[in-house]
Amino acid sequence: MTFQQIATEDKQRSLAELRDVKTLFAARGWFAGTSGNLSVRVGDYSPEQFHFAITASGKDKSLQTPEDFLFVDQSGKPCESTGLKPSAETLIHCEIYRLTGCSAIFHTHSVFNNVISEWFWERRSVPVDGVELIKAFNIWEEEAHIDIPIVSNYADIPRIVPEITESLNPQIPGILLRKHGIYAWGANAFEAKRHLEAFEFLFEYVYRWELLKGRA
Ligand SMILES: [Zn+2]
Repeated sequence: MTFQQIATEDKQRSLAELRDVKTLFAARGWFAGTSGNLSVRVGDYSPEQFHFAITASGKDKSLQTPEDFLFVDQSGKPCESTGLKPSAETLIHCEIYRLTGCSAIFHTHSVFNNVISEWFWERRSVPVDGVELIKAFNIWEEEAHIDIPIVSNYADIPRIVPEITESLNPQIPGILLRKHGIYAWGANAFEAKRHLEAFEFLFEYVYRWELLKGRA
């Protein structure tokens, strides 16, 4: 399916979803200093061809403007003529869509996700044991253990992509960039938001629990 074959209303729906999530996360202060980016996929999917709407680079995400979003293809290239630039991290979205076939990806920076990514950098994953909110990822075993992957944070984004390819765990709908932020995804915008909120809860939990145990 080419971009032109995707129904206009589907494109508008994806933009409306992005706008709602952007407004909500901005109200929570989740886009410090214009950081973070959001995308929602639109139209049919195959790992070789897909399209998504993504936040434009460098915009204040607490404002609503006609320049907030653009559509790009599976290689991160704009689908329509536009003066807007996709976020510098668009290639990471491309790779997560290619690997998972998910429908929405949300990326935010927080103090907790930065601190925790550095704390557990040597093991390249954050261990979480038996916390109820693991169920947000559809993992229902009692006392489940999960490891949330951490990858390097190079200034050159294409260098990060192979680490994502290698570290992404299909069971865990999120991946941390070291001292940078979290990427969380889902089968729709609602699920991606639920996953992101669960990750942030778990990062704060692990941080506080490690301090309580006296590891700091
Ligand atoms: Zn970022």
